[in-house]
Formats: sequence, structure tokens, C-alpha cells
Amino acid sequence: MAGDAVTRTRFAPSPTGLLHLGHAYAALIAAREADPGRFLLRIEDLDAERCRPGYEAAIFEDLAWLGLDWPRPVMRQSERMDAYRAALRRLAPLCYPCRCRRGDIRAALSAPQEGMPPAGPDGLIYPGTCRSRSMAEAGPGDAIRLDAARAFAALGDDRLQFRETAPGAARRPCLDRDGFRTGIGDVILARRGMGSSYHLAVVVDDADQAITRVTRGADLFEATWIHVLLQRLLDLPTPEYHHHALIRDDAGKRLAKRDDARAIRHYRAAGATPQDIRRMVGL
Ligand code: GLU
Repeated sequence: MAGDAVTRTRFAPSPTGLLHLGHAYAALIAAREADPGRFLLRIEDLDAERCRPGYEAAIFEDLAWLGLDWPRPVMRQSERMDAYRAALRRLAPLCYPCRCRRGDIRAALSAPQEGMPPAGPDGLIYPGTCRSRSMAEAGPGDAIRLDAARAFAALGDDRLQFRETAPGAARRPCLDRDGFRTGIGDVILARRGMGSSYHLAVVVDDADQAITRVTRGADLFEATWIHVLLQRLLDLPTPEYHHHALIRDDAGKRLAKRDDARAIRHYRAAGATPQDIRRMVGL
């Protein structure tokens, strides 16, 4: 935050695979941007189906091998459901339960016009089918959505802003209510079977960890508008954001978890040093 002398950052991987060069880059940037001792680690293990304890252990090991250090104990999202539920309760007056499946949404969106249905940082832009339902009728099979129109009305402000610190990353300096409604829409705050969505959890966690600068890939730039809106609604501070470039493979595709060949530990096994990894990602 402006005026705050300390810069606190975090690296927030999900233990759903081995860390690859893209993660090494993201972790090293987060550590570089932080003041000494203020680089934090957070394990984003909301999706119990896909997360594995073995991958979490591998994360700690690979990061330590890279030369990084962080305060313990680390924050783990799977242990923070109470905090997410409390935030969701606060937002409930601006929310509605949604029973639509992805197929329903696609059908509703593609009925009138041909071509690809519009998508934003939270996936397909929800057409509002369940918007008139009340939270009193929420059932265990429902997702919970934030009504963007009601959210902006509650804010009493129709513009979102945040400070971007990565040179060249700021693709737009602000987003207004109409841009949010047409480009992002009514986002999901809690999914069926999963207490919290990524968006709600990340906002609550960044505030609880007192993160002052969120460093992450440029692919999350547009999602940041969702996070700024949630921060405003929950009276949480908006940190600075640093959206860095993505590490791509030789064909120009961004690395994914399944790109095991680029896993840090495979380079380790082949005799690479942490310095080699830094060189490979251009740091
Ligand atoms: N868990 C997210 C990921 O693995 C991190 C997103 C963020 O840094 O906000 O991409």
C-alpha cells in the first residue's frame, strides 16, 4: 500500500502438480519484490480432488532448493473455510443461489446468436438465469453468485482502480460498472461442493496475510477487477499488483502443470543449479 514502508508478497501455488519453470519465475519475482523476510508462501489447496500432499512437499523442497525462504507455518486454504464463510455471509445480501450447469449457461448464451459465447476472467459471462432467486432458497447443490449490479449499487461508486507496478502490464487503468457487467458479469463466490471460489479465497487471504504487493502472471490481470470489487465490498485494502510475463515453451505456449518435462526437479536431476534455472527464466 502507498505509504507502507514494507513490501510483503506471496507465492501461492496449488499442489496439483510439480512446479515448472513458470512457477520458478513467479516465485523468484515474488521474492525479489519483497522486503527481507516478507516473502510469504500460501498453499492454494481448495480443490481437494486435484491436490496431493506429495505435490505440497515437492513445492517446499523445490523452493528451498531455489534458495528461497519463508515464514512458517504457511497458510493453507483448506484450513481457512471459516474465514471464507464469514466473508460470504457479509456478501450474502448481494448474492443469489445459482443452479445452472455449464451446459445450461452455454445454451442460454448461444440461443440468440451464433459463434463463441462471451467469456471473461471467471469463464462464460453468466446470462442471469437465476438472478431473481433469493438466498433463502439456497440449497446444497447451488453455487453462490455475486450480483454485479447490486454490488456496484452498494459501493455507491461505479469505477474500480488498482495500482499496477509491472512496467508495461497495465492494459487498462480502471474498469467501470458497465465494463464489469459486460466483460465479467456475476461471478461465482462459492461452488457446490467447495466452500469458496478462488476469487473469494484469494481476497480474504491476501488481506489476512497483509500482502502489500500481489505478484502473479499477466493471465490474471482481468481477474484482478473481481478482486478489487470484493476488497471494496468487504472493506479490505487493495494491494498493489505486479502482473509479470508468462514463461512460454518454444512454441510460444504458456507452460502448464502437465508440462512435466519443464519441472524444476527434472532440471535438478539433470544436474542444473539454481543459477541455471534463474538464467533459463531470464532472471
Ligand atoms: N493458485 C494460483 C495459481 O496457481 C495463484 C493465483 C494468484 O497468485 O493469485 O496460479
